[in-house]
Amino acid sequence: MKFATKAIHIGQDPDPTTGAIVPPIYQTSTYVQEYPAQTKGYEYSRTANPTRCMLEKTLAALENASYARAFASGMAACDAILKLLKQGDHIIASQDLYGGTYRLFTKIFTQFGLEFTFLPSPTTENFAQAIQSNTRLIWVESPSNPLLTITDLAQIAQLGKKHQILTVADNTFATPYLQNPLDLGIDIVSHSTTKYLGGHSDVVGGAVMTNSAKLDEQLGFIQNSSGAVPGPWDCYLVSRGIKTLALRMERHCQNAQAIAQFLQNSPYIQKVYYPGLNEHPQHRLAKKQMRGFGGMISCTLKGDLEQAKTFITRTKIFKLAESLGAVESLIEHPASMTHASIPKEEREKTGFTDNLVRLSVGVEDKEDLIADLEQALKKTFA
Ligand SMILES: *Cc1c(COP(=O)(O)O)cnc(C)c1O
Repeated sequence: MKFATKAIHIGQDPDPTTGAIVPPIYQTSTYVQEYPAQTKGYEYSRTANPTRCMLEKTLAALENASYARAFASGMAACDAILKLLKQGDHIIASQDLYGGTYRLFTKIFTQFGLEFTFLPSPTTENFAQAIQSNTRLIWVESPSNPLLTITDLAQIAQLGKKHQILTVADNTFATPYLQNPLDLGIDIVSHSTTKYLGGHSDVVGGAVMTNSAKLDEQLGFIQNSSGAVPGPWDCYLVSRGIKTLALRMERHCQNAQAIAQFLQNSPYIQKVYYPGLNEHPQHRLAKKQMRGFGGMISCTLKGDLEQAKTFITRTKIFKLAESLGAVESLIEHPASMTHASIPKEEREKTGFTDNLVRLSVGVEDKEDLIADLEQALKKTFA
């Protein structure tokens, strides 16, 4: 079965008792047992809930995974993955990382004895060189947030297998519609379903997928023990969003390509970061491992911090907000918003400067979006 069909049908069977085409939301915490420990498969909703299980089935299908687990947020998903490790273990990650992931690693898990190396340039060679005797996990974001750097997932997977190191890809930016890291040999995929999978800025959620029964069992144990599970209503919202993921991603990609080209030709823009541009340093790699280039663009202005802040307050359709991946276009200033938890000197090692602006291109009409950016740029530099 192909992607759009799976996104609509897998895990979303009509209700057998009423025929309801949309399966009901099982808003329940517990389940009546006929005899102690004799259940119909559910005993308590932290452990499992039918609405969550339906979503997990869909999520697994989209990533061509044997197993998926839904979490209360993308950070809860990252947190569960890191809990597979123990004191003294070493993790290698790219420096260009979602700010919350960086904060979780450096502010929480270092307190429990995990060690981290962050790579300013996430090439396969640099990951290989950073391996130590206690390295247990490689964490990759591709495309990365906010610089849209592409890492070769197949090569990272090979590197991990060679050294018996777990490999994790945060696939939030690409979505399973554009890229399937497990198919390239990566061990674990994580998602913030808050973004494209939910797609409507109305829910916070996360997910972890794998093909390993052993890893899934461990993740299930962690999920049930730590308890960062999504409620049934939130699971329903993510399931509903997923049904239009294929359609939305097509439009996100088309709009972002047009906007990236517009920005590249603008006299007010210094540099555009978008993997769909020929000028992007890993454009060929992106073409090889992705089926499209996504809806996220970053750019630097021919100006300073103040002009960057002025620009993003002058747009009208692009709303000034954190988050990404929904139908409406958003614009933000990573250094003071999504990535404020990364120290300036760390940020600037990767070329992530104060005049960087990040756009989440929505599914509106691209002519309106371009006109909006154009008027905001003109006002900023007037
Ligand atoms: C948003 C985001 C997260 C965190 O997800 P939440 O749902 O906000 O907890 C993790 N990784 C990436 C790439 C993200 O964009």
